[in-house]
Amino acid sequence: MPLNRFRREYMGAPSRMTKPIRVRIAPSPTGFLHVGTARTALFNYLYAKGHEGQFILRIEDTDLERSQPIYTQNIFDSLKALGLQWDEGPDVGGPYAPYAQSERLPLYKQWAETLIERGHAYYCYHTQAELDAEREKAQAEKRAFIYNGACFDAKCREELAAKPADDGVVRKPSLRFHIPKDRGALVFKDQVRGEVSFDTALLGDFVIMKSDGTPSYNFAVVVDDMLMQITHVIRGEDHISNTPRQILLYEALQAPQPEFAHVGMILAPDRTKLSKRHGAVAVSDYMKDGYLPEAFCNFIALLGWSPPDGEEIGTLSHFASQFELERITHSPAIFEKDKLNFINGKLIRTMSLEHLLAVARPYLHDFDLHQYSEAQLHQILDAVREPVTVLSELPDAVNYFFGQNVMLDAALVGEVLTGPEPAQVLQQFKQDFLASADFSSPDALALQVKAFANGLKPIKMKTIMWIIRAAVTGRTHGADLSKTLHILGKETVAHRVDTALVLTTGSFTP
Ligand code: GLU
Repeated sequence: MPLNRFRREYMGAPSRMTKPIRVRIAPSPTGFLHVGTARTALFNYLYAKGHEGQFILRIEDTDLERSQPIYTQNIFDSLKALGLQWDEGPDVGGPYAPYAQSERLPLYKQWAETLIERGHAYYCYHTQAELDAEREKAQAEKRAFIYNGACFDAKCREELAAKPADDGVVRKPSLRFHIPKDRGALVFKDQVRGEVSFDTALLGDFVIMKSDGTPSYNFAVVVDDMLMQITHVIRGEDHISNTPRQILLYEALQAPQPEFAHVGMILAPDRTKLSKRHGAVAVSDYMKDGYLPEAFCNFIALLGWSPPDGEEIGTLSHFASQFELERITHSPAIFEKDKLNFINGKLIRTMSLEHLLAVARPYLHDFDLHQYSEAQLHQILDAVREPVTVLSELPDAVNYFFGQNVMLDAALVGEVLTGPEPAQVLQQFKQDFLASADFSSPDALALQVKAFANGLKPIKMKTIMWIIRAAVTGRTHGADLSKTLHILGKETVAHRVDTALVLTTGSFTP
């Protein structure tokens, strides 16, 4: 029995006092949904679904310059394609709407004022140019740049506010969060990494509202997670250094802290950060290439998590029933495309033919599928699917099954269909085999082809099969020969053999 079901059934359902689990995925629409974000979304989804929780989608689009509607749409489409439907979000609404940060600016302003009133935040009048100069100086002196908190002092604020910036422009202040000098170490328990400690003296008073009136990432995320009652923040390890700042904000806002779980990064096989250089990183590219959502989710579920029952191939609902944060690893996960291909190929080989045809159709639009019955299309897919790893390989794998004719290119003719032997094999095939063969089943055909080939000794069986396959399919490799003959039918096979005979003998003998 899955662990979390066991807990529910034998250790009692969550008491009414226990807060319902609420998790979120909070992508910034500054690019197509990345594999890493999809993995984080999946972990959040699995955790919510395995614990009767809610999975929330929040769009973090406060960076108005870099955020684009096309990316928001891509995030929606990709998550949906993967089957990770959210319970609350910008399009479906929910009790804590709106779910796009660009529509929540009044809330950030309101909570920023609260922090000013409580003495936790102050306006800073230093310009970007002045801060950059300080940063360069620190770099030259080989020390880290930490804002010195000068504007916490009202005198400094007044003086700077009255002084025009170097470019003569009036200074526009940003709002900074004040970290008390004696705050000391900040320790928190990460659900993945255990106890984590940060020295708050190294953080520096950080900006919570930028001079353009938009919130910083750290501030917006905390206000939203607080108001949306998020109980668990499950996200990439690249955010762990933001967590102490966020915890300080929770304290100042007098809000309960969520649990934090920082998942190890996903690396390419060369152990560098996964990037376009290593191939596709957008989920939508994988979907276009013909990776099945179930296979893709299965693969990314294993990037940093492993099911306790050790069964690596499974459905989302099975994984959800077993998903616990303790089994997430903090060491980096390697994105091994071979493994993805293996899972995808396995699913293509084992899924029902009805399902395969449904997902294959968009890839087969160049073929006139209407002329074929569902049963025929199932037979074709069944015959070719064995070596297929992604659906985009299907058009090439199936193309010789469609139409009367087949392409016999010069290389193939030169290699397989030239000379007296191919001419003899095809001639005999036409006269002895096609004249009387029973095409009603692949099994019957297999026996007849074998008998026919035996009759042509000393020509080798392998050679005979090769010649027939080349003439009938235009290929040296492909689906099982008797299945192919059966699917094509006697008339098409005869037509193709005649065409090949013209090439091998140079003349057509009816
Ligand atoms: N917008 C942030 C990102 O896309 C969210 C980080 C978080 O989950 O707190 O990385």
